[in-house]
Amino acid sequence: MPFSLIPDRLYERYTDVTPEILSALGVTLLLCDLDYTLAPRSVPEPDGTLYRWLAACREAGITVAILSNNRSSRRVERFCSQLGIWYVGHAGKPGTRGYREAMERAGTDRAHTAMLGDKLLTDVLGAKRSGVLALMVEPLGGPVGAWNHVLHLLQRPFKWTARRRNDTQ
Ligand SMILES: [Mg+2]
Repeated sequence: MPFSLIPDRLYERYTDVTPEILSALGVTLLLCDLDYTLAPRSVPEPDGTLYRWLAACREAGITVAILSNNRSSRRVERFCSQLGIWYVGHAGKPGTRGYREAMERAGTDRAHTAMLGDKLLTDVLGAKRSGVLALMVEPLGGPVGAWNHVLHLLQRPFKWTARRRNDTQ
C-alpha cells in the first residue's frame, strides 16, 4: 500500500523510540522531522534529553539525520550543528526526493530506513511513498495554533487504526 496514511508504529514521544526497538526493526538510518517531533517549535536549541537519546542511537550504530520541510534552514542548521548530525533541508515531504537523498548520503536503502515524525500528510505519507518504515509520535508540547489543532483531530482516525494494528501484532 504505497499511499497508505496509516503509520506503521505509533509512539507518545521520540524517546519511546529506543535504539533497541530500532535495531529490532532492522533500522540503521532514522530520519527525523524536527518541529514537534524532536522539539516544540518554540524551543531554539536541543536539550539534554535529545543529546542523550542521540548518543544512545549512535552507540547502537544507528545514524540519525533530520529531514525537514522548514522554509528557513537556519533553525535546522543550528540544531544539527549543535547535535553533530546532518540534515536534508527543504525536503519537500511528502515528496520522495529528500528521503532518497538522505538514503544515498547514508549509503543505505529503504529496508533499513525509518522516518519519525508527527504529521501524517508530510512525514508519514512521504515515508509510505518512499517505502520506508513510518514511525509517528504525538506532537511534542501539544498542537500549537488553530490549524494544528484541526490537523491533530484529522489525524486521529489514522492513528487509531495504527494503534489497533500494533495491538494485534
Ligand atoms: Mg513536525
